[in-house]
Amino acid sequence: MALTEDQLLIVESVRQFAQDWRDGGGLDDLTSDDPVPVPPYDALAQDLGMAGLGVAEEYGGAGLGLEELALVVEVLGAACFAGPFLSTAGLATRLLQAVGDDTYLPRIAAGAARFAIDPTGTGRTVLDGDVATDFLIVQDGALYHVSADDVAPTFVPVVDATRGAVDIAIDRATKLGVLPPRALNECRVLLAAELIGVAQAALDMTVAYTKDLVQFGRTIASFQAIKHRAADMMVLVEEARSALAYALQVAADNPDSDLGEGAAIALSTAADNAFKVTGDAIQLHGGIGFTWDYPLHFYFKRARAAKGWLGTPAALRAAIAATDFADEQAEFAPELAPFRAEVRGWMADNLSGAFAALKHRGGPGDEDAFPDERKVWEQQLGNGGWTSLSWPTAHGGRDASIEEQVVFFEEYAAAGGPGRSGHIGTTLVAPTLIALGTPDQQDRFLPGIKAGTDYWCQGYSEPNAGSDLSNVRTKARLDGDEWVIDGQKIWTSNAHESDWCFVVARAVEGTQGRDGLVYLLVPLDQPGVTIKPIIQMTGTSEFNEVFFDGARTADRNRVGDVGAGWKIAMATLGFERGVSTLGQQMLFRNEFDLVVRAAKDNGTYDDPLIRDRLAKMWAGLKIMRTNTIRTMSDPANAALERAALMAKLYWASWHRDLGALAMDAMGGNADRITGGELSRLQRLFMFSRADTLYGGTNQIQRNIIAERALQMPKEPRGDL
Ligand SMILES: Cc1cc2nc3c(=O)[nH]c(=O)nc-3n(C[C@H](O)[C@H](O)[C@H](O)COP(=O)(O)OP(=O)(O)OC[C@H]3O[C@@H](n4cnc5c(N)ncnc54)[C@H](O)[C@@H]3O)c2cc1C
Repeated sequence: MALTEDQLLIVESVRQFAQDWRDGGGLDDLTSDDPVPVPPYDALAQDLGMAGLGVAEEYGGAGLGLEELALVVEVLGAACFAGPFLSTAGLATRLLQAVGDDTYLPRIAAGAARFAIDPTGTGRTVLDGDVATDFLIVQDGALYHVSADDVAPTFVPVVDATRGAVDIAIDRATKLGVLPPRALNECRVLLAAELIGVAQAALDMTVAYTKDLVQFGRTIASFQAIKHRAADMMVLVEEARSALAYALQVAADNPDSDLGEGAAIALSTAADNAFKVTGDAIQLHGGIGFTWDYPLHFYFKRARAAKGWLGTPAALRAAIAATDFADEQAEFAPELAPFRAEVRGWMADNLSGAFAALKHRGGPGDEDAFPDERKVWEQQLGNGGWTSLSWPTAHGGRDASIEEQVVFFEEYAAAGGPGRSGHIGTTLVAPTLIALGTPDQQDRFLPGIKAGTDYWCQGYSEPNAGSDLSNVRTKARLDGDEWVIDGQKIWTSNAHESDWCFVVARAVEGTQGRDGLVYLLVPLDQPGVTIKPIIQMTGTSEFNEVFFDGARTADRNRVGDVGAGWKIAMATLGFERGVSTLGQQMLFRNEFDLVVRAAKDNGTYDDPLIRDRLAKMWAGLKIMRTNTIRTMSDPANAALERAALMAKLYWASWHRDLGALAMDAMGGNADRITGGELSRLQRLFMFSRADTLYGGTNQIQRNIIAERALQMPKEPRGDL
């Protein structure tokens, strides 16, 4: 979201205010037995004039929308600000505007009223009621008002001392109107934003602390157990951010939506994650984290209290499941409707006849299905111009934007498009050659990839060079104008179906690690190459051992300089972690639908635990997609670096969890093989165990996150 200069100034001044409040001992003054002091809120509301941020201008406010309010609330959450800002300027403002109030909004904007909200309609434990001048009560979908003077609130000590509570008698409340469901959901979105601030601050405090504290002669930030926990905390924060971004996107795109799904995703994720992150923060601080004087406990308690305020995470997920996973998301990129229609039409026309048997086949764990037929399909795609969609037009592509690629992937998955035989060529080799290859290499290799006639595999891993990829031992030596290659690669996907392999080999004798490597394009159909299948846990074989015994390739098939192999190899991996994962994600949606179907067919759909897990998965789908699209649409935005770095760990773990859920959803039939072959969900269950390994294992991803995003000390080197 791009903010105007005025909005940025507002956010910045609130940030400064919150910081001063914290630094000035704001949290130190709080106890569970006394009401929260009012002066800080009044200063924020009146002196800084922030109470009316979200109030329409006609009532004296600044008229900011949900997105901007969310930003301000997050900043205050990061300070664990104690005062009824969220209740008054956030929640009350949204609720009152939703019923068209013109009595209380001017008072709020002037900083003359402090509101507390009772979403339960019981009058019990009303948060922020300790300092409220006014109460709003939500009961049976209607909004009621009562002033504090009329209800004699009774102060109730609560665990979270940053938000005092009261009990009130609600029988004297006046009905203001019927609430559209969206209003309360907007409140949930704002609470989610506050919790993101809470979680982010706990993470920041923790990372800083671990970098300072020395135990066993080194900072504890250098211990991998600490780094990995911190990385997981960051993923939880970023997950909540993407969940919030999803809800805000739905709110902006669908003014008519009740925001039920988006708000439930945002708040259930933020509430669970803030609780986990603040708890982990205490653990990583050791004893100091458990003390009253150290502020973490305020964050931890606030995160806990928020879990019950506007609906528990479990209740919010149950609500998602109760809709039978109805999608609230507007069609992506509506301005691309003609392009979408083109893809849809082409798929309908072409994925028919003999190709119809390929629908939904050949995906992960199913690569051995119809290998020849899927190559013919790849050629069909090539004829349609789809294999080179993202390539520049100068190289025979369509120069498609990220948005167009998303639309293509969506429609491809929706039509049941088969697993792509040519994906290593189209999404890894081609971008590498376009960026770093010679014109001669581009002329020779791109047409065959585009046409679906030449197939490629990736020769990186070796028996002792997996995560520690730079430890490659395969040797390449120049003999005239040809390279001679000796060594062994392992786990080489689709080598048995490929014509070419891009191989990273050691070209400079005596070098180690990342130095002295070369990146060669090697033809596989030659006497010096032996390919041996490796049977996977699925019982099928997708990957292979590849032996090079004096195999040869021309020097003009070398990409980059001798010694620059590491750089080129990393560039290729950059493409692997980029757009190509999007296509895969679109297929995840189909798999999710299958799991729901399996739960219905096998009698597990009514099990609340299965429903809860399904709802978590559903949220994960939306979060993953939002995360990927926002990072790829704005790659230069440094603020999104963390979101980009978490992508692989997130989708791989999500997919693994879906695999486990698929089996549980099948209940008593999970283990049973019918018709002589594994079902799609059984294959999913098994193959998803590979997702957390290839392309950088989960552990390696955590190293990367800790080191790059959190700047924690580096591991002894080698890994990806
Ligand atoms: C289905 C599948 C397809 C594949 N396809 C290809 C392919 O086409 N081409 C190709 O080149 N490779 C391919 N691979 C290989 C893949 O890239 C490697 O499996 C991966 O890099 C991990 O290496 P490894 O298996 O040797 O495990 P290892 O690196 O030996 O790891 C073993 C364990 O140690 C952990 N570990 C290792 N180093 C560290 C560290 N520094 N800190 C913490 N923990 C660590 C790992 O996380 C893992 O849990 C494929 C793998 C699979 C499963």
